[in-house]
Amino acid sequence: MTEAVKWVVEDAKEKGILWPSDELKRKAWVSDESIYELADKDPVTFWATRARVGLDWYKEWDKAYEEKLPYFKWFIGGKLNACYNCVDRHIKTWRRNKAAIIGVREPFDEPSRTLTYYDLYREVNKFANVLKSLGIKKGDRVSIYLPMIPEAQIAMLACARIGAPHSVVFSAFSAESLKDRIMDADSKALVTCDGYYRRGHPVNLKNNADEAVNGTSVKDVVVFKRTGQEVNWVEARDHWWHELMAKADLYCEPEVMDSEDVLYILYTSGTTGKPKGVIHTTGGYLTQAYWTTKWDFDLHDDDVFWCTSDIGWVTGHTYNVYGPLSVGATQIFYEGAPDYPDRGRVWQIIEKYGVTVFYTAPTMIRMVMGWGEEWLEKYDLSTLRLLATVGEPINRDAWMWYFEKIGGKRCPIIDTWWQTETGGTLINALPGIGPFIPTVAGRSFPGTRHEVLDEEGKSLGIDKGGYLVQKSPFGPGMLRGIYKNPDMYQENYWSQYGNGAYFTSDGARLVKKDNFRLTGRVDDVMKVAGHRLSTAEVENAIGGHDAVAECAVVSAPHKIKGETPWAFVRLKSGEPSDELTKEIMDHVVKVLGPTCRPDRIIFAKAVPRTRSGKIMRRILKSLAKDEPIGDIATIENPECVEELKKLVGYKETT
Ligand code: ATP
Ligand code: MG
Repeated sequence: MTEAVKWVVEDAKEKGILWPSDELKRKAWVSDESIYELADKDPVTFWATRARVGLDWYKEWDKAYEEKLPYFKWFIGGKLNACYNCVDRHIKTWRRNKAAIIGVREPFDEPSRTLTYYDLYREVNKFANVLKSLGIKKGDRVSIYLPMIPEAQIAMLACARIGAPHSVVFSAFSAESLKDRIMDADSKALVTCDGYYRRGHPVNLKNNADEAVNGTSVKDVVVFKRTGQEVNWVEARDHWWHELMAKADLYCEPEVMDSEDVLYILYTSGTTGKPKGVIHTTGGYLTQAYWTTKWDFDLHDDDVFWCTSDIGWVTGHTYNVYGPLSVGATQIFYEGAPDYPDRGRVWQIIEKYGVTVFYTAPTMIRMVMGWGEEWLEKYDLSTLRLLATVGEPINRDAWMWYFEKIGGKRCPIIDTWWQTETGGTLINALPGIGPFIPTVAGRSFPGTRHEVLDEEGKSLGIDKGGYLVQKSPFGPGMLRGIYKNPDMYQENYWSQYGNGAYFTSDGARLVKKDNFRLTGRVDDVMKVAGHRLSTAEVENAIGGHDAVAECAVVSAPHKIKGETPWAFVRLKSGEPSDELTKEIMDHVVKVLGPTCRPDRIIFAKAVPRTRSGKIMRRILKSLAKDEPIGDIATIENPECVEELKKLVGYKETT
């Protein structure tokens, strides 16, 4: 084991609060708190400076920001290319032979495949020419349906190079989900592969792709050969990646893109309903991707960054592609499963590649917690210096476990709140500034403004739960619309409080000065006997009980109180019993008070999740209300719904 540096220190006065150590302050890109004030005085100038310093532009903008709500623009008239910024500029420096992507495979399939920036440059240029040879032009949409292999990043960057917006679809989505997204985006081509390995077994992806493209606007399908398995072939439409690449020219001039040209379309996770096609543009998005990557994860040239998100989510877009590559970082890109060949795989990868910065989701932390510490003990995790999370509120227990067991009490935890719509992280602590507080995400990223409002739009002070909004000027990485659906754009984000505030649909409360705790989705907030209760807070309390592995709280109708919490609980081990039910209920009363006592504790083997691992409370809510379950296309584990129906005594009336 190497001697590990302590990157955090405990607050001398307040238990449970951590601060950066002097070591971390010295190393960090930002450690002076005045950055917040400075940025807030003039956010537009702040971002303009960031854009100028962080990115290479062909032409500087005429105007940094313009707002005609609900629309706004950044760096108007500025010209740049996102691919150039992620690849070309690095090969002109010493980073030419630096590892850009370490593509880690399943063990039977090792060695991993490392691409240096120069390798990436060559692959991307050739693939950009491949797309051009298929007639793809600036503005044409290209769908990408690939597993976690570096070809996903190559294909995305090649699209960016020629100005063709990509629409990446999670590879574990069904043919039908892929078809919906292809149709919505009117894609001209699809990039996919024959198959991939999952826990040692080849999975056929081409079959889904074939089914999905039928009857759509897709004219050409490019197929990367990953497993070599048998696949169906449609002559004239299907092309092998390697055959086209062999014929492609080595250089493709990057398209000069306008700052506000579309970089990509991406569909949200679908936690609350049907996914929305979120539009991101080039200059502002890349500026936010670059600076949030650099500052949130404090990435330096000697870091090894691992973001475990799938490429199909926005986290994969911003923190597996545009962020780390624009800053010139080295990243791990892992194709396999976290529990194959055994439950130590993630820790083994951290040890093997000396990962320094690890970014994952609370759902993953809760899963590995359940697997037990014995899986960690075999591995040296001392290279880790910073840990981060995204996707859901992180409960205190999971936070503490992450901090103590994975980070060895050395590493700060950066809990990043953001959305597909926001393009990059927005609320989190900065490593060199802190504080790091369990269940508190932190402050608005410099140059952005958030507030917690009540129903009438009044700004709330410390410790009052309300609705999280963003205020003008809106972050440069924010969505510029929902594809082909301006009404939905207006309705979802700008109708709640009129055009003055972007409505996030999330609940929050300010704890301490400027520090936000996220309390769950607004749809999930309930009113129990006149009191506002947030699911995250009740879940946090229940999660603190030793027997509980995971829980989801939803509101159920109640004759007297109006609404009442029901808790769906998965146990770590042991059997459900009346005593345990009472113990859990008493525990909630002790932590939060009697109003929060759950009316029912339902012990379940699993709770419904999206494919990105988030709890789908809306399904549980429908069960509690005896309402139709609604769209479950994005559900990961549909089988659990039947079990839950029986457990709650669901009788669908309509
Ligand atoms: P849909 O909008 O289709 O229902 P979704 O909201 O799950 O799906 P994403 O954009 O992937 O789609 O997720 C963003 C949401 O995830 C946020 O609005 C918030 O509810 C939750 N979230 C993300 N990060 C955090 C975090 N650090 N703390 C609390 N909640 C988070
Ligand atoms: Mg959402």
